[in-house]
Amino acid sequence: MPPEARPIEPKTDRGATMVDHADLIFTGGRVHTVNAANDIAEAVAVGGGRILAVGSNAAVRPLAGPGTRVVELRGRSLLPGLIDAHAHFAGLGAAMAAIDCKAPGMQSIRALQEAVRRRAAELPPGTWIRGRGYDQSRLAERRHPTRDDWDAVAPHHPVIFTRTCGHICSVNSLAMTLAGVDDATPDPPGGRYERADGRNLGVAYETAQAPLQQAAALSPAEYREALLRADRAYLAAGATSVHDAGGLTGPAFGPCQELVGAGELHVRLYAFVTVNSRQHPLLGLLPSGVRTGFGDDRLRLGAFKVITDGSSSGPTAATRAPYTSNPADCGILYWQQEELDELIGRAHRAGWQCTVHAVGDRAIEQTLDAMAHAQHEAPRQGLRHRIEHCGICPPDLQARVAAQGVIPVMQPAFFWEFGDGYIRNYGRERADTMFPVRSLLARGVPVAGSSDAPVTDHRPLFGVQQTLTRVTMDGDVCGPQERVDLTAALRLYTVNAAYAAFEEDRKGSIEPGKLADLVMLAEDITCVPAERLRDVAVLMTVVGGEVVYEA
Ligand SMILES: [Zn+2]
Repeated sequence: MPPEARPIEPKTDRGATMVDHADLIFTGGRVHTVNAANDIAEAVAVGGGRILAVGSNAAVRPLAGPGTRVVELRGRSLLPGLIDAHAHFAGLGAAMAAIDCKAPGMQSIRALQEAVRRRAAELPPGTWIRGRGYDQSRLAERRHPTRDDWDAVAPHHPVIFTRTCGHICSVNSLAMTLAGVDDATPDPPGGRYERADGRNLGVAYETAQAPLQQAAALSPAEYREALLRADRAYLAAGATSVHDAGGLTGPAFGPCQELVGAGELHVRLYAFVTVNSRQHPLLGLLPSGVRTGFGDDRLRLGAFKVITDGSSSGPTAATRAPYTSNPADCGILYWQQEELDELIGRAHRAGWQCTVHAVGDRAIEQTLDAMAHAQHEAPRQGLRHRIEHCGICPPDLQARVAAQGVIPVMQPAFFWEFGDGYIRNYGRERADTMFPVRSLLARGVPVAGSSDAPVTDHRPLFGVQQTLTRVTMDGDVCGPQERVDLTAALRLYTVNAAYAAFEEDRKGSIEPGKLADLVMLAEDITCVPAERLRDVAVLMTVVGGEVVYEA
C-alpha cells in the first residue's frame, strides 16, 4: 500500500537565503521528503541553489515570481538527488569506453578475442586495448582468458581485461613487458599470478595487478573524457552525489579538479584516499594535515580507505570458514592484524574518517578489531568510520558494527549479478545472510547503499530495486528475510549515504535550507512493482538548483 499524500506544514528558509522568489517550483506531485518522518509532500520551491520551502501546493505556489519555472509533477515522484555511497567514478567513465564484456554475445573468450582483433585493426600499434567486466564463471570456456588468448589477436597492442570485480585482470605479453612483469616475477604479498609450468599466464589477482594497472593507466586527456562520461551517466540516472571509493584521488584528481573548477562536472564528489600497500604513495598525505572534509560541496576529500580482502564474486573474500565450493580456500587477506592496526591507527590519529574494504567475515572482524584498537589508543568524538561492502556479516559482527558506531556501505545490487555465485561459493546459509540490511537497520545502524560501479550497474534505482528483491540473475533469492520496503531502501541511497559523508545537514532529504539536489521520475514509484523500479525513467535531475539533466 502506498502511503497517502499528506501535505505537511510549509517550512521556509527565506530569511536565511535572502531569496525573494523561487527559481524553480515543483507542484502537484508526490514529493518523497525522506525527512525523519518520511513525509510525502505535494510541492517544493527552490532558490539560490537551496530548498526554500516544502509542503502543500497552496503553501508553495505563492513563492512563484516572474521568471520562476514551474514544473507540474502530475502525481509523479520527486526524490532527493540520489547518492551512490561507493563507486569508482573515473573507473566507470573508463569502463564505458572499454570493450564491454557484459554486452549481449560477449560471453565467450572467442567473442572477446574478436572484439580485440577489431580494435587492434583500428588503433595504431602500441595503443592500449582495455576490456571491462568479464566473469570467467559466465564465459563459455569457464576460465580466465590468458596472455596467449590476447597474443593470438593483438601481439602489437598492450591488452588488459579487468574482471567484473576489479580485483583480477588478464593481460597479453606486451602489457606484461610494459609493466616489467615476467615469468620470474614473484607473487607479491596479498596477490598472485596464475602460472603453468613456471610460466606466468598473464592473469593477476589482487595486489599482483598493481604494476599492470599502473602501466595501463589513462592519460590526463583520457581521464577528462572518462570523468565527463561518468558525470552524464550518473545525472541521467538521477544521482547527484558519488562517494568515490578509489581511482579519483591520484592521477585523475588533477583533471577532475579542473573540470569542477570549469563547471563542467555536476555530480558532487566525496573522494577517498585509497591505499592497498604499505608503500602506497598516497600514504604521504597522512602527515600533511589535510584530511577528510577538505574541499567544498562540489569536490571534497572523503575517507582514508584500506583494502583488506578480495571480492565477493572472485571469490576472494576472506572468510572464517572455508568456501563451500573449495574447502581449501578461505580467500585473500591483505594484512596481518598488527599491520592493519598500524595503518588505521595512523589515519585515525591524523583525524581522517577511516574505512576498510572488507567483504568476508574474517576481514570484517579484523577491521572492527583495528578500529576498536585505534579508538582505544586515541579516543575521538563523533567518529563515523565505515566498512565498505560488509558482505558476510553474521549476528556477532552485526552487534559489533552497531556497538562501535561503524557505517556499513553495502551493495544489495550485487545479488543480481553475483548472487548465484554466492550460493555456489559460500553456501546457501552464508549467501542468505550477506548484506543483512534489515537486521542492521533493526539494530539502529544507518546502512548506506551503493553500486561499486563499474563493478555493477551504477543506477541507484537498480540498487533500490535489489534492496527490495535480493533476486539473482538465475531467479533465485538471497535471504528474503533481509528485504526492506521502499521507504527504508530510499533512505539507504539518500540520507544514510549523506550521513556516511558527514553531509546529512546539507543533503539526502528535501527540507528547507538543504542543497537543491533533486530528481524527478516519470512515475509515482510507490505504484511501481519492485521488479520494474530500475526501469523507471528519470525525467529531470537538479544539482544546486540548476537543471543539469532533462530527458
Ligand atoms: Zn569498490
